[in-house]
Amino acid sequence: MTNHISLAQGREYLAIPGPSVMPDAVLQAMHRPSPNIYDGELIEMMPALTRDLCRVARTKHNVAIYIANGHGTWEAALSNVIAPGEVVLAPASGRFTHGWAEMAEGIGATAQLIDFGSSKAWELDRIADALRADTARQIKAVLAVHVDTSSSIRNDIPALRALLDDLGHPALLMADCIASLGCDRFEMDAWGVDVTVSACQKGLMTPAGMGFVFFNDKAQEKRAAMPRVSQYWDWQKRTNPELFYQYFNGTAPTHHLYGLRAALDMIHAEGLDHVWARHERLATAIWAACEIWAEGGALHLNVADRAHRSHAVTALRLTDGRGTPLRSFTESQLGLTLGIGLGMEDWDGCFRLGHMGHVNGQMVMAMLGGVETAMAALDIPRGQGALDAAAAALAARTITQS
Ligand SMILES: *Cc1c(COP(=O)(O)O)cnc(C)c1O
Repeated sequence: MTNHISLAQGREYLAIPGPSVMPDAVLQAMHRPSPNIYDGELIEMMPALTRDLCRVARTKHNVAIYIANGHGTWEAALSNVIAPGEVVLAPASGRFTHGWAEMAEGIGATAQLIDFGSSKAWELDRIADALRADTARQIKAVLAVHVDTSSSIRNDIPALRALLDDLGHPALLMADCIASLGCDRFEMDAWGVDVTVSACQKGLMTPAGMGFVFFNDKAQEKRAAMPRVSQYWDWQKRTNPELFYQYFNGTAPTHHLYGLRAALDMIHAEGLDHVWARHERLATAIWAACEIWAEGGALHLNVADRAHRSHAVTALRLTDGRGTPLRSFTESQLGLTLGIGLGMEDWDGCFRLGHMGHVNGQMVMAMLGGVETAMAALDIPRGQGALDAAAAALAARTITQS
């Protein structure tokens, strides 16, 4: 009986939207004894590290580094600029905005949520109405999730900036780029973002455990006017340390810093514009395959409009509810782990493809081949030729060498 052999033995592939695949160079950079934290190399590497981190966010301003995941940076950012009793506006296109808004409530702010559901991008008119109604200027910040990782919606941050400017509303524009930094085009300064939060385990390809808060002068003015800021979250000393330990308010995340250094070297060697273009091309191949599968009527892309799809994660839904069995098949039979249907009411029917960070053409083709195989095994109706369409999307847009 050879019907039921598993084909999972071999190098496994974690294709979830964070943590992402770690490059060997990152792993190798971390494989060393603990360094001296009072003197030498570790201390000396910090100025270049923060500079290169700011280059990824396309900002000339400041970055504070926290030993924290993305949730930690949500709280860190809010703690520096939002006082108890103040109001934040949270336009939500998926689960993550709700999470950030809940955290604002947790520090005593009032979160005014505008819920666009889990498959629609922001409607700017509704955001404009909320801002216009705020004649007393109680809204101190807009919490803008660039790519919502649960829904895979990519929202238009420059359009939101333009809206705030047109209305003359002084609220800070705070962007969550945890899923998009190092994947989707994001330009903090050119887009007029005041505060950006991100973390290291997605587009930055480093193990989870470090988070970043980038902020400009306008945000710093608000920080300076705060009645108090918890000492640990305070970004002041972290960005202008007199002593090395103040970067982290304690022991540095030594090995993460070495890993991040290697990851930043890879990103800047490739070139950030190329990194964005690579993610876009890979996403185009993934969409091409998914759109063909969808012709069978059993699978849907969560985001209909290509212009609002993330280049780093793709959320899918099986109408027969078999998202979980499909994921179980790819993991146990093929060694391919796909993302769960996060924050969706019918989460069991949903799954997500993570394609952020250290991902290339052959990996994407393997991931799509894994999904095709699972659909075949589970007898899920699907359009034919999905892999051909993905291959064509990559081939048509690849530089040929002769
Ligand atoms: C992953 C993610 C988070 C949460 O990050 P954690 O490190 O899991 O706390 C928040 N926002 C977005 C957009 C994300 O993709």
